Amino acid sequence: MSFQTATYLRKATSRAKSDVANKMVSMFLHDLRRKVNALLGANVTDIAYAAAVTAAFGNSCCYCNRSLEHDRAAVEHLEGMNRFRVGLHIQGNVIVACKRCNGEKRRDDQQRELTLAESGWESFLSHDFTRCPAQCKTCAYWKALLPDDVQRVDSLKATRNRIHEFRKSYPEALGWSRKTKPALQQTLDTVYRECQEFATLRIRKAVDEVFEALSKSVPV
Ligand SMILES: [Zn+2]
Ligand SMILES: [Zn+2]
Repeated sequence: MSFQTATYLRKATSRAKSDVANKMVSMFLHDLRRKVNALLGANVTDIAYAAAVTAAFGNSCCYCNRSLEHDRAAVEHLEGMNRFRVGLHIQGNVIVACKRCNGEKRRDDQQRELTLAESGWESFLSHDFTRCPAQCKTCAYWKALLPDDVQRVDSLKATRNRIHEFRKSYPEALGWSRKTKPALQQTLDTVYRECQEFATLRIRKAVDEVFEALSKSVPV
């Protein structure tokens, strides 16, 4: 579908409100990690964890394998830190990607239901141009990076396997995350909805107050 300027402009306010609600969800998940990491006695800042990430992925992007440089690296949550994926900032879920892959993966992370795989990272690595509609942007991304059809399918599969292997070292943390996901998802849906409702009411009240004050002090 072509870009519709009018629709884009009309939706500006609802986009701003969902940005606020998404930020609140992210703050909740960041806060939660303190308790989870204390419970597990492990943290992503542990030196041993950084060594394990480096041993598994070198200094390269965990998805596309391109070498990382400071201004092009992003802390990556394999299961995205949002209300749909409910990824946590814990060992086994945090690695390093390039900013490009980090951005491209967001399309899958922001889907409530995934069709290609159960998790956000696996879904992102399943866009091998064999199962999506022709206009799929993520498939186009991987096709541009890996033009050869056979090589692309093999390479994405090898990357999925490498990440699976890496995650096997963190059964406790990832098991906890899996078990709590349905309950957290429900809580986050509520937090998200309430945050949007609060933003709507509070902004309306503030706008009314400002206008009332202005109408008294500024002659029209
Ligand atoms: Zn990458
Ligand atoms: Zn695709």
